[in-house]
Amino acid sequence: MKGLALLAAFLAVQNAVAATMAGARPIENLPRAHATHEKATSEPYDYIIVGGGLAGCLLAERLSQNGSKRILVLEAGRADYNSLKIRIPAGILRLFKSEYDWQYESGGEPNCEGRNIYLQRGFVLGGSSCTNVCLHHRGSAQDYDDWKVPGWTAADVLPVFKASQKDTTGASAEYHGTGGEWTMSHVRYQNPLSKQFIRVGKAAGLGVNTDFNNWSKPQTGVGRFHVSETNGERCSGATAFLSKAINRKNVVIQTGCMARRIDFESKTAKGVTYNLMGDDTCKNFEASLKPGGEVLVTSGAIASPQLLMCSGIGPAEHLESHGIPVVHDNPNVGLNLQDHPAAVVSFRTPKKGVSVTSKLRLFGKTNPIPVLQWLIFKRGLLTSTGCDHGGFVRTTAAKTNQPDLQLRFLAAKALGPDGMTTFTQLRSSKSHEDGYSIQSIACRARSQGRVRLASSNTMVKPSIEAGYFSDPNDLATLREGIKLGRQLCNHPE
Ligand SMILES: Cc1cc2nc3c(=O)[nH]c(=O)nc-3n(C[C@H](O)[C@H](O)[C@H](O)COP(=O)(O)OP(=O)(O)OC[C@H]3O[C@@H](n4cnc5c(N)ncnc54)[C@H](O)[C@@H]3O)c2cc1C
Repeated sequence: MKGLALLAAFLAVQNAVAATMAGARPIENLPRAHATHEKATSEPYDYIIVGGGLAGCLLAERLSQNGSKRILVLEAGRADYNSLKIRIPAGILRLFKSEYDWQYESGGEPNCEGRNIYLQRGFVLGGSSCTNVCLHHRGSAQDYDDWKVPGWTAADVLPVFKASQKDTTGASAEYHGTGGEWTMSHVRYQNPLSKQFIRVGKAAGLGVNTDFNNWSKPQTGVGRFHVSETNGERCSGATAFLSKAINRKNVVIQTGCMARRIDFESKTAKGVTYNLMGDDTCKNFEASLKPGGEVLVTSGAIASPQLLMCSGIGPAEHLESHGIPVVHDNPNVGLNLQDHPAAVVSFRTPKKGVSVTSKLRLFGKTNPIPVLQWLIFKRGLLTSTGCDHGGFVRTTAAKTNQPDLQLRFLAAKALGPDGMTTFTQLRSSKSHEDGYSIQSIACRARSQGRVRLASSNTMVKPSIEAGYFSDPNDLATLREGIKLGRQLCNHPE
C-alpha cells in the first residue's frame, strides 16, 4: 500500500509538472498587455514600435523613461512572456513549432537539395529572445569595425552594450557592465559530458576561453558560453526591458496586433494600420502619430523587410507585381539576408543515464526531480538550454583572421540530421539512447539570401530564400567542422 501511495504521489507530481509545462501562465496575468486593442487607436503617439521583440522591448523602455513621450508597442504575437515554458531555459524543447513560434520555412533551398528549411522565430512579447538558446554573445570587435558604418564601430557600441548589461560572472569590467538589465551569468548546470568536451578541446589544442565577449583577446577556444539568464531563469528582452516600461502611463502595449502597413502622407509616416490576429475579416485599425512622430520597425530580420515592402518601400517592380503603391523605390529592401547554417555529428555512449535526455525522463515521462529542483531552487538540469558549452575555431577554410566556425556541444544524442529536428522530436520521444553531439555552425557565413513578398498582406508569410551555401566557403567551413567534431568525439582523452 505504501508503494502504491508513493506511486500515486509520483504520478500526481508528474501530471502537475506536465500541466504546468503544457499550459502557459494565463495572459490575464499581464494586465496592461491584455488591455483592449482599441487603446492603440485612441490617441496619437510619439513613437509606434512595430514588433515587441528584443529590439522593440529595449526601445520601449529607453524611450519611455522620462515620461514625456507617448509610446505604442504593436506586437503580433502572444503576451505571456512569463510562461514557464519560456522562463525555464530547458523549456526551449517545447518552444520549437509551438504557439510561440512563427514557424517560418525557407523555400526550396537550391544548395540543400531543394529542401525547405524550418526557421524558428519568437511570436510573443520579447520575440526571439524568448525562444532562443540564451547564449550571451555580442560577436567580436572586428565584426563591428569591418562594417565601416559611422557610429557603429566597436568603440561606439561597447559603451552601449555595457550600459544595458548586468554581468553576474565577475568578468572584465573593461568589456562588461553591471548596472544594466540584460543579465549575463554562468549556466548553473554542467553535465559531466560537457566538462569532458572542454577537457578534450583543450587536449586537442583548441585552447580554452573563459570569456568569449572579452575583446582584448581572440574569440577562439573552447569553454562555457555565458548565458542570458537571471538566477537560473531565461532573461528575455521582455523580462529585462519591457517589464520596466509595462506599468508606465505613457506606454501602451498591444499584443495580437499584426501591423499591416505603415501609412504615409507623401514620404512621411503618419501611423500604422494593423489587423487583429485571428480576425478572418482582416478589419483594419489605425494607430496614428503626433506631428513629427516616428514609426520604429523592429519586426525582426524576416518580418521587417516584409512590412516595409507591404508599406510601399522596396523594389518598385516587385511591389507593383503585388499591387502595392510605391512610396519609395529601394531595390535593397529584402536583400542581404544572412543566416548561419549548421550540421551535427552525433555519437552513442555506452554509459547509461549520463546524457541530459536520460536525466529528463523517468519511466518514459518527464522526470519530476529536475523540475522540482528548478521550481524550488532555480538550479539543475533545467537551467540549461542544452548547448551552452562549445567554442570558436578558425578553420583552414577561414577567409579572414576571425574564427569561421562555432562549435556547440550537446550532452545528448541527436535524433535527426540537424539540431532543430532533435529539439522538436525530443519532447515526444519516450526514451533516448545516451550520447553526445557537436553542432558545427558557419558563424561568419558569407552566403546571402533574400526576403520577397508572397502577398501584400502581412498575415501571409513572406517567401524566404535563405541562400545557404550560395558562397561555397560556408560549406567548406562546415566540412571542417564535421571533421573536427568527429576528431573531438573520438579523442582518446
Ligand atoms: C532558434 C534561435 C536561436 C537563437 N539563439 C541565440 C542565442 O543563443 N543568443 C543570441 O544572442 N541570439 C540568439 N538568437 C538571435 C536573437 O534571438 C535575435 O537576434 C533577436 O531576438 C533579434 O531581435 P529583434 O528584435 O530584431 O527580433 P525578434 O526578437 O525576433 O522580435 C521581432 C518581433 O516582431 C514581431 N512581429 C513580426 N512581424 C510583426 C508585425 N507585422 N506586426 C507586429 N509585430 C510583428 C514578432 O512577433 C516578434 O515579437 C537566436 C535566434 C533563433 C531564432
